[in-house]
Amino acid sequence: MGEVMTKIFDCHGDIWNDVVKKRMSGEAAVIKNHHLDKFKKGNIFSGIFVIWIDSPPEHQPEKRFKQIFDAMHSELVENSDLLHVVKKVEDFDDAQLSGKFPIVLGIEGLDGIHSIEALESLYDYGFRHASLTWNMANDFATGVKGSPNEGLTELGYQAIKFMEAKGMLIDVSHLNEKSFWDIISVVNHPIIASHSNVKELCPVPRNLSDEQIFAIKNTGGLIGVNAFREFIDLEQSKQTVSRLADHIDYLVILAGIDHVGFGFDFVDYLDEEAMGTFSNGLPEYTKGLENCTMTENLIKELKARGYTETDIDKISYKNFMRVFKSL
Ligand SMILES: [Zn+2]
Repeated sequence: MGEVMTKIFDCHGDIWNDVVKKRMSGEAAVIKNHHLDKFKKGNIFSGIFVIWIDSPPEHQPEKRFKQIFDAMHSELVENSDLLHVVKKVEDFDDAQLSGKFPIVLGIEGLDGIHSIEALESLYDYGFRHASLTWNMANDFATGVKGSPNEGLTELGYQAIKFMEAKGMLIDVSHLNEKSFWDIISVVNHPIIASHSNVKELCPVPRNLSDEQIFAIKNTGGLIGVNAFREFIDLEQSKQTVSRLADHIDYLVILAGIDHVGFGFDFVDYLDEEAMGTFSNGLPEYTKGLENCTMTENLIKELKARGYTETDIDKISYKNFMRVFKSL
């Protein structure tokens, strides 16, 4: 009997940041030439690719957003024979039938955006995901590095209402606790924390408390576990695949197998300048999970822990599909 291949949906990747960097240095077809083979090797059939403003606010987020957006747009148009933007759940099948790679377009932090009209034009373009903030505060909400007393703004509440009405994925990774609970108090649909781990196992601000994990479960949503080493354990020697599997075990016990996913946040293609905005040290990756080609190591670890193929399918893509379909 041959090995059954695990199908993986990655709830978080900053691919457009690589696309903009390489396109600005004269390359084209960046995803085709640098990423598609790696995804294939890692059994990643699709993911949420976000626009992330990778520079400090003084560098004009509007300008940077447009720069990344334009690179993304050119990449999508020039490679429309290979890439398929997912606007509704049927698009995953359509993409597969035509041999294309389906991509859910997302925004990590609405820093360059200042109105619901602007958010609506992004929806109309094809974006189906957004987190209101990255680590700082903006017009919509406050991130983990902002004031703990600030939550959703009036515009933030309007954005949540808009996103629910349209069926956009609401992502709470990066929000501070007050913004998180403000969202929980008003949402009616499943929400996701696309790339966050368990605070009880690794107490950093980007990870989730038990109460937050339980609240996400109660919306019907999911938590995508993050392979970024600093969110796995405080001790460098424990930043391992096995320790990441501990986070999965913890989430499964607390929230149930239906509310866990993968949001790997692989950063092997980011340059040191971008890394420096969030990482404590030099680029160094979780051993055995350095990039997206190595996901099989985590799948093997889960199998060794007794997860069945049905369990693993739920975590690796079916839970995400359920959430996306329910919006
Ligand atoms: Zn992030």
